[in-house]
Amino acid sequence: MTLLDGKKTSEAIQQEIAAEVAEIKANGGKVPHLAAILVGNDGGSVTYVNNKVLACEKVGFGSTLVRYEDDVTEEELLNKIQELNESKEVDGFIVQLPLPKHINTQKVLEAVDPKKDVDGFHPANVGRMVAGLSSFLPATPYGILQLIERYNIETNGKHCVVIGRSNIVGSPMSILMAKAAYPGNATVTLCHRNTIDLAYYTRQADIIIAAVGIPGLITADMVKEGAVVIDVGTTRVPDATRKSGYRLRGDVDFDNVAPKCSYITPVPGGVGPLTIAMLLKNTLRAARNEVYA
Ligand code: ADP
Repeated sequence: MTLLDGKKTSEAIQQEIAAEVAEIKANGGKVPHLAAILVGNDGGSVTYVNNKVLACEKVGFGSTLVRYEDDVTEEELLNKIQELNESKEVDGFIVQLPLPKHINTQKVLEAVDPKKDVDGFHPANVGRMVAGLSSFLPATPYGILQLIERYNIETNGKHCVVIGRSNIVGSPMSILMAKAAYPGNATVTLCHRNTIDLAYYTRQADIIIAAVGIPGLITADMVKEGAVVIDVGTTRVPDATRKSGYRLRGDVDFDNVAPKCSYITPVPGGVGPLTIAMLLKNTLRAARNEVYA
């Protein structure tokens, strides 16, 4: 059994990006710049955005953090997005989700110029992905593809069972694993909350990608010997022995499932650390005008 080390992979990718930034600087080019819009003071969101800004500094990107109180109007937000769309300095930007209820999230996401949509949430990028055109891939699926690729995991002709159909993980993952490329060329089954007898499908899987948010949903009896298991779940469960009072648990019962696997991601330290690296990668691609060239 091999652990898929997301932390190590993420650091390697960030080092590659830093080297590219150093080269851009040496050639007198424009340094990539990421902006983030953060609304409100939700602890999780504040931490995520701060980590994204810190990661920018580490690889040598420019960064801008735009903060609003919870009561910001939709119009103010849309005006800021327009300003970032037109900015010569900002190559890519994200709007940290979730947004307060009085704001129409879809409208906000669709206001972002697809060429600067480094989260890959704009329908134009989703559509391009489905059509097999170059697009900004959402960070989590992009990170999973990197893990598969960097560990040389075979996907051609394999049965890949994706569990969860969210717009940001499960659905794009099912499309990417089926497309005619590597990683890809898999036979894909997409399971979700209406699936009858989930274990029937997972037992046949060569590759399981679980993005459900139910700790320990995937148990050892549901997994075939030698399977590749990728766990996207990160649910906070109470843990009195931790200073924070909680720990992260994946969708997979790691202790019992791991011995059966050829490869498995730990939680934490698996898919999670890759998301920031892939956001930086998308920003670099935006700065290079690679996606919409
Ligand atoms: P994420 O952002 O990690 O993708 P979401 O909470 O947006 O997570 O989505 C959870 C997904 O998990 C949904 O698509 C839902 O259909 C799926 N799901 C929820 N419960 C089950 C279950 N018991 N079995 C299989 N899939 C489930």
